[in-house]
Amino acid sequence: MSRDMMASFELYQPDSVENAVDLLSRFGEDGWAVAGGHDTLDWFKDRAKYASNVVDLTGIAELRGIRETADGVEIGALTTLTEIEQSNLIQERYGVLADAARRVASPQIRNTGTIGGNVNQDARCWYYRYGVDCYRAGGTTCYADTPEGQNREHCLWGADRCVAVSPSDTAPALVALDARMVVRSSDGEREVAAEDYFIGPDVDIERMTILEPGELLTAVRLPGDWAGATFYFEKVADRNTWDFALVNIAAAMVVEGGTISRIRMAAGAVECVPRRLTVVEQVVTGSEKNEETAALAGQAAVRGATPLNYNHFKIPLLENLVKRAIRDA
Ligand SMILES: Cc1cc2nc3c(=O)[nH]c(=O)nc-3n(C[C@H](O)[C@H](O)[C@H](O)COP(=O)(O)OP(=O)(O)OC[C@H]3O[C@@H](n4cnc5c(N)ncnc54)[C@H](O)[C@@H]3O)c2cc1C
Repeated sequence: MSRDMMASFELYQPDSVENAVDLLSRFGEDGWAVAGGHDTLDWFKDRAKYASNVVDLTGIAELRGIRETADGVEIGALTTLTEIEQSNLIQERYGVLADAARRVASPQIRNTGTIGGNVNQDARCWYYRYGVDCYRAGGTTCYADTPEGQNREHCLWGADRCVAVSPSDTAPALVALDARMVVRSSDGEREVAAEDYFIGPDVDIERMTILEPGELLTAVRLPGDWAGATFYFEKVADRNTWDFALVNIAAAMVVEGGTISRIRMAAGAVECVPRRLTVVEQVVTGSEKNEETAALAGQAAVRGATPLNYNHFKIPLLENLVKRAIRDA
């Protein structure tokens, strides 16, 4: 399938967010923002997706960097995953995000791959990426959800014609930290909770986020509420590097006198969006942080899971990751 030969496109290199959103709103569906290009160039080389106008964000200085704000930290969308992983500020205050960034792909990809690109990357379903006419690509079949379909990597919840999962490792960490996503368009700026930023096929089968054509993610804001909390991140994949999660887990909790007083937890690669584990949060809040609570949390996490033919293993995997998050954080 891979032809390694991209179709030609017009390349625009704006030097401000204002110019970038002007261009993107002018091009609408026929415009494509590119940051590190790790997801984008796959699509273009395979000729499975295409836009005739590509807006390169890498010359926009205001989109880069990690800065302290009055009530937390703001990370520009063009900040690389390596910069996040190595930032003292992120390691000290929001370690779960540094840990998640460190588990993405490979060092080479993290050196140029950006947080904006990581949370906006497209689904990794084999069939969809291969360019077949599945539901997500505008067709009328889900090839992964057939008796012969290869669906080991696919979802336990939220299937609605499509069974692909959210592939981002940083997304569950952002949900656990209650991050705010800053979105700009030619109409102005809006802020959306990370939990509401990602959308499933029941909302729109052709998109993974609330971003409309012409909109740009400019920054991610981490609120002070969770700074310095007790964190946990773990990812299980077939290989230890350069591989997407089979399941990952991110947790932020405040433990006082051995009791969990506040907690947010999210899992990746089990649903088309990072799955906030509100049931687990309810079960463990006010309980002692011990083995028994951890076991109850694990059991609660997998209630209602609906496996496909080949992904039953994700249920005990998620249960154990949740257990470990409570016990070992
Ligand atoms: C071999 C390989 C292995 C990988 N393994 C992992 C992994 O283990 N875990 C993981 O999480 N990811 C993994 N990835 C995905 C990779 O981390 C992401 O593709 C990368 O982080 C995307 O960043 P980018 O800047 O290169 O994105 P780009 O390709 O530039 O952009 C990706 C998408 O996001 C959009 N976009 C980018 N920036 C913005 C913005 N500011 N506003 C709006 N839209 C934007 C683009 O339009 C595009 O649709 C892997 C990728 C590859 C190729």
